[in-house]
Amino acid sequence: MNSTEYIKHAKEDLLHTYNRYPVVLESGKGVYLSDTDGKKYLDFAAGIGVCALGYGNEEYSQALKEQIDKLLHTSNLYYNRPVIKAAELLKKASGMDRVFFTNSGAEAVEGAIKAAKKYAYTRDGHADFEIIAMKNSFHGRSVGALSVTGNEHYREAFLPLMGGVRFAEFNRFKSVEEQVTDKTCAIILETIQGEGGVYPAEKEFLEGVAELCGKKDILLILDEIQCGMGRSGEMFAWQNYNVKPDIMVAAKALGCGVPVGAFLMTERVAEKSLAPGDHGTTYGGNPFVGAAVLKVLEIMERDHITEHVKEISGYLWNRLEELKKKHTCVADHRGMGLMQGLQLQADTAAGDVSKKALEHGLILITAGSNVLRFLPPLVIEKEHADEMYGILDEILSEMEK
Ligand SMILES: *Cc1c(COP(=O)(O)O)cnc(C)c1O
Repeated sequence: MNSTEYIKHAKEDLLHTYNRYPVVLESGKGVYLSDTDGKKYLDFAAGIGVCALGYGNEEYSQALKEQIDKLLHTSNLYYNRPVIKAAELLKKASGMDRVFFTNSGAEAVEGAIKAAKKYAYTRDGHADFEIIAMKNSFHGRSVGALSVTGNEHYREAFLPLMGGVRFAEFNRFKSVEEQVTDKTCAIILETIQGEGGVYPAEKEFLEGVAELCGKKDILLILDEIQCGMGRSGEMFAWQNYNVKPDIMVAAKALGCGVPVGAFLMTERVAEKSLAPGDHGTTYGGNPFVGAAVLKVLEIMERDHITEHVKEISGYLWNRLEELKKKHTCVADHRGMGLMQGLQLQADTAAGDVSKKALEHGLILITAGSNVLRFLPPLVIEKEHADEMYGILDEILSEMEK
């Protein structure tokens, strides 16, 4: 079958919840992907920030193959070795004390919400607490995660969602302060907003929120699902600030393609939080995903991935600045590390640019209202930033005609 025929089948058989690009991806090598028609693409999306190590990493593949032959699953009624070692490395990378592995980002957010509520319940001896979340945020599609997601478009059809959520404005400290009540048990935010349009938390804002949390024993939950795992130039984006979360969630690049997420907390929170019977998952943290997380963390540490990101992201920054200077359709450029965005003027649709990019062999995604989002594998080199620049420069020139 050729790609047109595959896509015809997909449209008949799969539930239509995505407006997909008309491409059937088949294989990958380094930072390039190939489709079923043999066309090659430079990848600047990394499967939405998942494939941090790029494609076809031999060492990673080998670790997975060995674990498949040994043991895939045990259930959490027993211990398994890969996940114990993975937890140890994840704690070391994050400075957090306790890890719970999940199967996705949304599930990690669910766990974080429950952990915060249980902490306040144990502390005060009653339930009915509130959470403050941010407008323009994204935390996932399950009901709990959707309840703290500040995007009406995603929420509207599913109301009522979980109660007790108040929304504040990201990067406006006063607005957060105004939402605090006697019932507030947690504040959740993305250290760098991703889906909302690539907005890093400003230093004074995040540090102000953390201080407020400390004063009132409100738990700070940082969503590092997209910005974590080295993408910001530090292992976790909050490590670029003078803050430490009480609860942190990770996923996406945590398994580099194997579905896994995690929520982590400090010992202070863990002591009053989820206890036996409070939370669980059948698959979460099985030996297979444990082996993936373990290998990802080993490779990232040994290869000094954060150093590489710091260096290459500066180069990408400069190339995108050039595009901004050269093309009037680019209104703004922002981001941190290898999580950057170009905001386009209202008369240039980011969706049209990403479609054209695909035709030119460049995989690029969009975010928020009219933003081109750059989330390449963390292993890109300068030549890839140059290749991306060449393609995008040509497309933007053509569109401006
Ligand atoms: C992707 C994402 C999620 C949801 O993760 P899933 O694995 O899709 O459930 C939550 N928060 C942020 C910041 C994300 O980028």
